Amino acid sequence: TDPRRSSFFWMAPVQLEDHEPAPSSSRAPEIASNGIEGCIGNTPLIEIPSLSQATGRIILAKAEFLNGAGNSPKDRVALNMILEAEKQGLLTPHQGDTIYEGTVGSTGISLATLARAKGYKAHICMPDDQAFEKSDLLIHLGATVERVAVAPITSPDHFVNLARRRAIEHTQSSTDGSKGFFANQFETESNWQAHAVSTGPEIYQQTDGNLDAFVAGAGTGGTISGVARYLKLDAKMSNLKVVLADPQGSGLYNKIKHGVMYSSTEKEGTRRRQQVDTMVEGIGINRVTNNFEIGRDLLDDAVKVTDDQACRMARWLVENDGIFVGSSSSVNCVAAVVTAMRLPPGSRVVTLLCDSGTRHLSKFWKNIKEMGLEEEEATDLFTELGISE
Ligand code: PMP
Repeated sequence: TDPRRSSFFWMAPVQLEDHEPAPSSSRAPEIASNGIEGCIGNTPLIEIPSLSQATGRIILAKAEFLNGAGNSPKDRVALNMILEAEKQGLLTPHQGDTIYEGTVGSTGISLATLARAKGYKAHICMPDDQAFEKSDLLIHLGATVERVAVAPITSPDHFVNLARRRAIEHTQSSTDGSKGFFANQFETESNWQAHAVSTGPEIYQQTDGNLDAFVAGAGTGGTISGVARYLKLDAKMSNLKVVLADPQGSGLYNKIKHGVMYSSTEKEGTRRRQQVDTMVEGIGINRVTNNFEIGRDLLDDAVKVTDDQACRMARWLVENDGIFVGSSSSVNCVAAVVTAMRLPPGSRVVTLLCDSGTRHLSKFWKNIKEMGLEEEEATDLFTELGISE
């Protein structure tokens, strides 16, 4: 094993048979002169032993919660959006410029952290149904936070539209020359491109291109599109299956499977589409964003995951592997198991662990506690997912 990596991470790198371990992380203990930015990317790819054992396939997960600025894959995106904006002259450090963003939390946390490090202010608009851990953290990071009622994307008060408006208002009313910059994670190219130049290549390197499926949920769609584009188009892995993990209430599953956009809990036209009816945070959406569209043709399949399954998987992972994750990671793991069972024994499936359960104590994990989940019930989950023991 590479001593630099193993002395930094408590997890040993995944040992892929017949291959040398993946090249060491740039986050290894030498001094990162660029500060917190040096803690972004090069996350470990860990095997989830209990899931490999249960499926007879190899389930690997990119530990994205170990991104060291905002502790999620959104660090990669936030950094790229800021660097691009600086290149285009839309942000200048230490001039009072403010980054505005509409986010359910993770992107806001990454932006607020990097804003501090790079000499900007951050103003975050988010829906008021998200766990308080995220808005509290944003406030501690010094961001201005607006929690707004859930509204359809057609409403000017939808959190994304509000963030865009605030950025324009800032620039128009500025008396000191400072600028408002709307980061626009749902639509900007800087989002999927961040994953195409970092997450995708890292997965390829860490597996030596030896993987059969990549499974991920979509919030903006940046992760799944960026990774799919790198692996399928740049690395030419034409046999790779890219599978969307979609929580209940999201419209993307039907978009992939049937070409129509309506959620499983509504019939098209019977109800105004707005909020995704799930307790899962960060993934699932009822519109097609640019970042989803750019990779849509590369998606081979989609797996629908219920909240109940996500809760049981989260409990299983902590019980058996000591892995304590948030709701989107748990959805990814359910879909990874389903995908694995559709592939021959020994196949390799890669997914993502997006953030830690500590960010979801007041909602997702509170619900798990209230459900009184026991180990046996989680075992039932595997039967439900097609694994008979
Ligand atoms: N997990 C979490 C916790 C997130 O916040 C997000 C982004 N909203 C995602 C997964 C999905 O990532 P993407 O936006 O790249 O689709």
